[in-house]
Amino acid sequence: MEWKGRKGSANVEDRRGRGKGGVALAGGGIGGIILLLIFTFLGGDPGEILNGAQTTNQGTSVPYEETAEEKELAEFVSVVLADTEVVWTKLFREQGLEYVEPTLVLYTDSVQSACGAAGASVGPFYCPGDQKLYIDLSFYQELQDKFQAPGDFAMAYVIAHEVGHHVQTLLGISEQVNALRSKLSKEEFNKYSVRMELQADYFAGVWANHQADMNYLESGDIEEAMTAASAVGDDQIQKKAQGYVVPDSFTHGTSEQRKRWFTKGFENGTIEGGDTFNASGL
Ligand SMILES: [Zn+2]
Repeated sequence: MEWKGRKGSANVEDRRGRGKGGVALAGGGIGGIILLLIFTFLGGDPGEILNGAQTTNQGTSVPYEETAEEKELAEFVSVVLADTEVVWTKLFREQGLEYVEPTLVLYTDSVQSACGAAGASVGPFYCPGDQKLYIDLSFYQELQDKFQAPGDFAMAYVIAHEVGHHVQTLLGISEQVNALRSKLSKEEFNKYSVRMELQADYFAGVWANHQADMNYLESGDIEEAMTAASAVGDDQIQKKAQGYVVPDSFTHGTSEQRKRWFTKGFENGTIEGGDTFNASGL
C-alpha cells in the first residue's frame, strides 16, 4: 500500500509499555461480569478477555522505547486508520448519517478496555463499550510467522475488519445481535457471530475498494488480504490446532467464506450488499 509520507490519524492512543503486569481479577471479582459483546479478530476462547478483571500495571509513565521497525508499523497503522476515517465518513454521509471516528489503542502485553482486561494473546479486538480498537503491534509478526500471511496489507485488512465492527456498532447492528445472546444457545448464537464477522470482512473489502479508487493499492495488496482472511478462517485455525473441525463452534466463518465476503465488499464498495444476516447462503 502507498502510505509513506501520508498523514496519520489523530485518533491513536499510545499505551505501549504499560501492560507489563498482566491481567488479574479485580476486587469485585467475577460477580461484576457485564455481558458486553467483544469482537476479536481471531476465533478461539473469548475467556481470555476477562470481564471484571483489570490489568495490574497501567500506571508507569516511562515512555515506550520503540524499535525503528515498530515506529514504522505504528505510522503505517495510523495512516490506515486515517484512510478508514475518510472512506467511512463519506459512505455514512451518503446515507445521511454521521460517522463517529473510533480510537485505536496501541498496547503491549496487556490492556484495559471497557469490555474487560485482555492479554496480547487474544489478538486485535474492538470493544463497542468504548468504541476503541485494541492492537498489540506484535500481531504483525504473528500474521507472518504463525499464519503465513505476511505483508503490510494483511495488517491493513486486520484494522479495516475491526473498523468494520465499529461501523456495525454505529449502525446499531452490534446491539441487535448482542440482544440475542441471552436468548439463544451457544450454537445458535455462534451462527449470528459468523454473520457479524463476515460482515466485518465485507466492510474491510468495501474500504479496500475505496483505497483502490485513491490509487493507494500496490500490486499484491489484495492477495495479501485474501491470504490473511483465509488463514484466520475457523476451519483453518481448528485444523491446525486440533486436527479436526467443529462447525457448530465456528464464530468467524470458514476461510472460503471470509475470502468471499471480503471480495464481495471489494467489488461492491458500498454498504448495501453486505447484509450477511439476510443472505440465503453464506
Ligand atoms: Zn471480527
